[in-house]
Amino acid sequence: MIDFIFATGNQHKALEVRDILDLEGVNILSLRDIGYLEDIPETGDTMTENAIIKSKTIYEKYHKNVFADDSGLEVEALDMAPGLYSARYAGDHKNSEDNMTKLLENLNGVTNRKARFRSVIALIWEGETYTYEGVVDGVITDARRGEGGFGYDPIFVPDGYDLSFAQLGDAVKNSISHRYKALTKMKAFLDSVGK
Ligand code: IMP
Repeated sequence: MIDFIFATGNQHKALEVRDILDLEGVNILSLRDIGYLEDIPETGDTMTENAIIKSKTIYEKYHKNVFADDSGLEVEALDMAPGLYSARYAGDHKNSEDNMTKLLENLNGVTNRKARFRSVIALIWEGETYTYEGVVDGVITDARRGEGGFGYDPIFVPDGYDLSFAQLGDAVKNSISHRYKALTKMKAFLDSVGK
C-alpha cells in the first residue's frame, strides 16, 4: 500500500476524490489525515498557480507524491466571477450559504444563467509537476434546490439534467463533475506509470 497525499483541508472534496479515484493499493491521505492543520495561502493569480502552490507546499515538507485541486464556479454574466474567489465570495469567513445568497442576488433579473465549474489539479509525482483541468457546463438556478453536496451545489444544474448537483447526489455528480474530469486525466497518467 503506497501513501498518496491529497492536499486539501476540505473533507467533502477528500470524500469525492477517494470515491472517484478508487486506486488499488493506494492510500489517499488528506491534510487532516497527516496532521497538517495550517491554512495554505492561495496567493496565485490562476487556479493552476494555486493548485501548484498547494501541492508544492506539501511536497517540500513531506517529499511524498502529492496532488492538490483548485476549483471554482465561473458565471458568464458576471465576467466569470466568482472564479478564483469562489470560496470567499461573500467574505473571508468562507460561508457557502452567504456565497450562494450573494450570487443569486447578483444574478437577480439576469436572463443569462450560463456557468461552469472548473477544477485544476496539480500533481507532483516523483518530483515532477503535472497539471490537469476539468470543466462542467451548466446554469445557475433562481433559488436553492436540494440538500446534498457542498459549496454552490444547490444552485448549479449541469447541462443535460433538470436537477441541481445537490439533488443529483454523489454518484451522479461524481461521474460528470469538473473534479471527476480532471481526476480522470490524472488517473490515466497514474495508470500509464503502473500505479
Ligand atoms: P478551493 O478549495 O480553493 O478550490 O475553493 C473552491 C470553492 O469553489 C469551494 O469552496 C466552493 O465554494 C466552490 N466549489 C468548487 N468545487 C465545487 C463543487 O464541486 N461544488 C460546489 N462548489 C464547488
